[in-house]
Amino acid sequence: MRLIALALLLLPTWVQAWGNHALLSYRAFEGMPEVAQAAPVRVEPLDDFLRAQESRLVNMLDAQEAWARREIRAYAPRPDALRFTPQPGDAERRAAFLRALRLSPHAAFALFVQPDPRRQGQVEQGLMPHELVSSVPLSKGATQRFLPLQTGQAVAPLAVLASASDEADYGYDIDLFEDNRGAPVGYDFGRQPFGNPALRISSQAPFHMGFFHQGAVFNTLAPGFARTFTQLRIHQYSTLAQLAFETGHRYWGWRFAGLALHYLQDLTQPYHASAAPGERLSGMLWAELLAKLGSPARKQGLIVLQSNRHFVLEKYQTQLVLAAALAGRDDGLNEQALRDMKADGAYPAWLAQYARDVVAAEAHALGPETDTAIVVGAPARYVTDPSFDFGATESGLDLDADMRRQLLAQREAFQAAVARLLRNFGAHSRNAVRGMLR
Ligand SMILES: [Zn+2]
Repeated sequence: MRLIALALLLLPTWVQAWGNHALLSYRAFEGMPEVAQAAPVRVEPLDDFLRAQESRLVNMLDAQEAWARREIRAYAPRPDALRFTPQPGDAERRAAFLRALRLSPHAAFALFVQPDPRRQGQVEQGLMPHELVSSVPLSKGATQRFLPLQTGQAVAPLAVLASASDEADYGYDIDLFEDNRGAPVGYDFGRQPFGNPALRISSQAPFHMGFFHQGAVFNTLAPGFARTFTQLRIHQYSTLAQLAFETGHRYWGWRFAGLALHYLQDLTQPYHASAAPGERLSGMLWAELLAKLGSPARKQGLIVLQSNRHFVLEKYQTQLVLAAALAGRDDGLNEQALRDMKADGAYPAWLAQYARDVVAAEAHALGPETDTAIVVGAPARYVTDPSFDFGATESGLDLDADMRRQLLAQREAFQAAVARLLRNFGAHSRNAVRGMLR
């Protein structure tokens, strides 16, 4: 069976899900009173939080690890040498904290917000250099803008939460596998289970995707795809958020909550919850077999097409949501979908396995229909021509203008699919925050 194991059936160049999570989170939470009307919080450096809560963190980080060993399939247990223990100074304590969570040693946890373009326009003055916030360069055409915060400054919880929901893409999960260059020694995540270990950005994919619902045959043929760590990150950050709220560190409560949301939001994206939403297992196997027999064109075409459709979905919604925010328009289909709270209560209450059993299950089920809507509604060259690589040519494309030239009905079908995903994005984000605040 393993002779035709699926090796690399995944977006090799594109591993972000929603472009800029903060833009979407501002819209998803601006109508939720528990967030939008929460009292401002005082900005606190991470070192102050860690120093004040050091003894509680010892037990809590051990409890996180025990949970992960119990609950996560194909988990890679944390070596005992990485346990968090009390430290003499701030620098040592921060390093110990990152090791205990097995995060990148370059994770900055800088004090920043991304301003809401709807309220503040596209801020270009007083910005922080990206390198102070992110250890990886931002993607081409990135929409992120970072404003520095000062210790003790009052800031709105909505801004902290929305900004942090984008933060997990700033290098925190990069190069953690033993075959990545510069991987921390002793993390024991093993070899990178899928994607290209030589591509830095690809190394975060197993932390930001979850293929929980591919079925037994797929899991047998492609065991690497079962080794994902999204649940680990969600559990780590959401329990840290609860500790911070309970102990009066409200800034870090909202900040860790936002970090946890990122992974949940990634899993609402069908291309993050399915190995190849537009392809049946038989098609994947056939492409893999041809590649093994020396004809890789079909497999390469499949990878490029899945990657391009993922890219089109992300680029389209980013462009529209940002343009609407800058123009002060807040009643478009995407904005309404993100803010719509009607369906929130139809889902189970927040539980430990909400990400896998609710969010990823829904996104996986929506995969084929989303993929079809993109193929029908997006410009054909981007989504059905395997010789066109979106990732390699992206900047300067105006997708919305291209699509306006298409038949209106096709574009509407695509827009409806996007709005449906954004409605799920908003609902699950709010349900998670309700759970963390409880
Ligand atoms: Zn991500």
